[in-house]
Amino acid sequence: MSLNDIQNRIAATCQRVGRDADSVRLVAVSKVQPNDRVEAVLQQGHRLFGENKVQEAAGKWPDFRARFPGVTLHLIGPLQTNKARQAMQLFDVIETVDRPKLARTIARIAQEEGHCPDLMIQVNTGEEPQKAGVLPADADAFIAECRDLGLPIIGLMCIPPADEEPSLHFALLAKIAARNDLPDLSMGMSADFETAIGQGATYVRVGSAIFGDRDYG
Ligand SMILES: *Cc1c(COP(=O)(O)O)cnc(C)c1O
Repeated sequence: MSLNDIQNRIAATCQRVGRDADSVRLVAVSKVQPNDRVEAVLQQGHRLFGENKVQEAAGKWPDFRARFPGVTLHLIGPLQTNKARQAMQLFDVIETVDRPKLARTIARIAQEEGHCPDLMIQVNTGEEPQKAGVLPADADAFIAECRDLGLPIIGLMCIPPADEEPSLHFALLAKIAARNDLPDLSMGMSADFETAIGQGATYVRVGSAIFGDRDYG
């Protein structure tokens, strides 16, 4: 696989399901990947990336940003409140707002700094105890709470359970977004981004299919 293959598959899927190709944006998930692989994708002109750890992103993206203007960076991993300020400086979009304490912290820092990245709310569609995200039953109230705080919420994000049919989870996320008038849906990874596009994803988060397997060793 490569960046080009994935872009072609996104375009083909959009055509098949009757969507504009530019209605789906590809977040290249560069976590854990060696810098030379990330640089190769930057060299090919891609500018939208996702990282799931604040510390890791802080270690590599300031330099990449200086060398490759126009980078947009999404945080797609869980955020601790004590890293919120740093995350808000590093990332253009935080996809993983998932609890009132974090929302209040972000709102306070946004006031102090006069700046807030765009935000998405992570929904734990599979209600998995070990997974981050607001429960589906609590989503409407949490979205309202975030809006009351003045937070710029643009959409919803989910990571379906690994062993379940993802389309049920994508459909649930799309339904919650629609009834709350949220335009963006971040859903779909290497194994299921075409399914997600068929169900309305506006962002797909693809890592290993672009960069190769991650080496956690
Ligand atoms: C790692 C990760 C991805 C990318 O996963 P791949 O299977 O490599 O495409 C997408 N979303 C999140 C939240 C991730 O942590």
